[in-house]
Amino acid sequence: MTGFKQVSTQKGLLVIPGPIEIADDVLYANAHPSMAHTSPEFIPVFGDCIRMIREVLYTKDAQPFLISGSGTLGWDQVASNLVEPGENALVLNTGYFGDSFADCLEVYGAKVDSLRAKVGGVVPMDEIESALKSKRYKIVTVTHVDTSTAVLSDIKSIAAVVKKASPETLIILDGVCSVASELIKMDEWGLDVIMTASQKGLGTPPGLSVLVASNRAIQTFENRIAPVSSYYASWKKWLPIMKAYEQGTAAYFATPPVNLIYAFNASLMTITKSSEVSLEERFKLHEEASQRVKSAAVELGLKQVPDPENAANGMTALYFPEGYTASDILPRLSAKGVIVAGGLHKDIKDRYFRIGHMGISVVQQSRGDIDKVIDSLRDSLKEAQADKWQ
Ligand SMILES: *Cc1c(COP(=O)(O)O)cnc(C)c1O
Repeated sequence: MTGFKQVSTQKGLLVIPGPIEIADDVLYANAHPSMAHTSPEFIPVFGDCIRMIREVLYTKDAQPFLISGSGTLGWDQVASNLVEPGENALVLNTGYFGDSFADCLEVYGAKVDSLRAKVGGVVPMDEIESALKSKRYKIVTVTHVDTSTAVLSDIKSIAAVVKKASPETLIILDGVCSVASELIKMDEWGLDVIMTASQKGLGTPPGLSVLVASNRAIQTFENRIAPVSSYYASWKKWLPIMKAYEQGTAAYFATPPVNLIYAFNASLMTITKSSEVSLEERFKLHEEASQRVKSAAVELGLKQVPDPENAANGMTALYFPEGYTASDILPRLSAKGVIVAGGLHKDIKDRYFRIGHMGISVVQQSRGDIDKVIDSLRDSLKEAQADKWQ
């Protein structure tokens, strides 16, 4: 075997908003010898993942679904299990991922209304309230952190408004870019579905759709009249599987990603059971790292895409300086071993870039990742400026 280590040291520092840097113990867990998905050794590993994801979201008894797939599969699960054709869905749109969620809901026959924030902003609360009062919505969806804009929505306050204006409406949180980097209190805030994926704040390789549904959401699913409109995403198929693994027996609908579950278990152990960094401290560390990156950006004269009062803690989106483009900055960062992401939101795509600061890059401070990002950004800007003035 040549060079597993070599590859991992040559690849550069991955600071895009997912996939993120992965801890060695998680990578090694992913390299577990191949196991039967029904083996007695594997069953509790899966069961513990189900129990631990509840801890990350501060929920006592909501129902997790861990299914092979990417974060996108969460949209299909919501659309096909919770909404019946012709029912109304309200999408709070703070960027690219709001468009995609709306698109997915429509594929399954939902009637979608979108409330669109201006680029970098959030949807005003009074607009949310009046929309909810104007007609009956089965669900309202909120992108917690829209990865295209780095806008953080205040889900706690939004949930309170929904409960007041339309208590029957299920509250769905797209937390793909926020789970484990932003505080989410599922039970206390009354959230019905939180969907995420393995490769962002949860610090695991991509390939696992992670969704947690409240008892109310499960009841809504059980009471639906129209048949579930998906085969692979059907909770009819998956609910017995999740319950079996949690109770310590195996059941089969479709093969789970066995090795990825070992990796996910290792990462969840660190997130929920670490004696060094508690879950609360983890969120605080994300806030601190975020502040450092954002303060450095101010010093360097770079403007953020989100309004500063609603900027995410797990990532930063920055406009290039006037007169500069991606090709002036990103290749220089990359030459220094720092891999960031370009723009994604269609209105401003070529004018900004994105830095992820989640997981071990912020929690394992001895790695020095945040320093490296800030120093490399400063140097890259200097070089780009020097080049312009030659
Ligand atoms: C990344 C992301 C998704 C999609 O997840 P995939 O794993 O790429 O399918 C959905 N919503 C948000 C907010 C994301 O950041």
